[in-house]
Amino acid sequence: MDDPDRHKSLRRRTYRVPLNQMLGREGRQDIMLRAIIVHGGAGRVPGDELAPRQAILDQATGLALDALSQGQAPLLAVEHAVNLLEDSDLFNAGRGGAMRLEGSVSLDASCMTSELDCGAVADLRGIRHAISIARLVMEETPYVLLVGRASTELALQFGHQLEDLHTERNIRRWLTARQALEQLPYKEQLRLLRGLASSAEETGRHGTVGAVALSDDGRLACGTSTGGIASPLTHEGRVGDTPLIGAGTYCNEYGGASSTGVGEAITRATLSREVVRLIESGLHPQEAAERAIERFAAQTGSEAGVIALDRRGRHGAAYNTSMMQTAFAHD
Ligand code: ASP
Repeated sequence: MDDPDRHKSLRRRTYRVPLNQMLGREGRQDIMLRAIIVHGGAGRVPGDELAPRQAILDQATGLALDALSQGQAPLLAVEHAVNLLEDSDLFNAGRGGAMRLEGSVSLDASCMTSELDCGAVADLRGIRHAISIARLVMEETPYVLLVGRASTELALQFGHQLEDLHTERNIRRWLTARQALEQLPYKEQLRLLRGLASSAEETGRHGTVGAVALSDDGRLACGTSTGGIASPLTHEGRVGDTPLIGAGTYCNEYGGASSTGVGEAITRATLSREVVRLIESGLHPQEAAERAIERFAAQTGSEAGVIALDRRGRHGAAYNTSMMQTAFAHD
């Protein structure tokens, strides 16, 4: 596992994972049999949430590694890891999904494998495990992206239960956050939101989650799940990068990546695809993640983070926010 204290680094620049964290147990860049990396969103998190969030991220990598050791596909390992994070209200996904200005909880998620199979949902409501519904879209429908009521209907058809995802904690945050916007006419709200749109630090609540996994037969999969941008509140119908293949999530036979941060900028830069493109060109995933974040920052002036894994099980993580919590495990 990575050093649990690394999230304490609060440097405002592209973060570099120390070299010894990129190396295998013997200090060489070993080819790893099975590997998993997860993230819990890019941007500042309240101090008292850091340790409990890190514990869940670490637990998620453990679950995923167990699944991989039992011979399960990397996509299932990703799903197990992300489901655990979606179960916690400490992350902005699943049960912890942020509320929109109008009061709804609307979830986005996507997943992809090294065979280029992929699926995604946007504006999914009342279903906690958005990543699982993205997998259903991939495996059970002829589509790649299903939005709104149709995504909830698919989930119900396959046995998922409707649930009220409004938590007390999120209602409290929503009541405070909407004060900035609720009195304004719609066009004024849009103007204010446009002014804040490039900063993930301005947005007070983070916790999009994502994972990339490698199985011992060399297959990769990745997935990302979010409740969207939490503060300032966004309008119903706003969809960020998370369900967009190439933006929030991308995977092919060379590597996989999951991004988090300001969704509109990540979409313009197709950040996850960019990281995998750099891995394809021969870069170590750490180098690929750093270069992609540097380019992203220069191109968009915005903030994001990304995790990546290549087909040798080597991992990378970079961000230009103040922090991004991650966990990595391999055997
Ligand atoms: N990328 C997500 C979105 O824009 C938010 C985040 O990752 O913090 O919806």
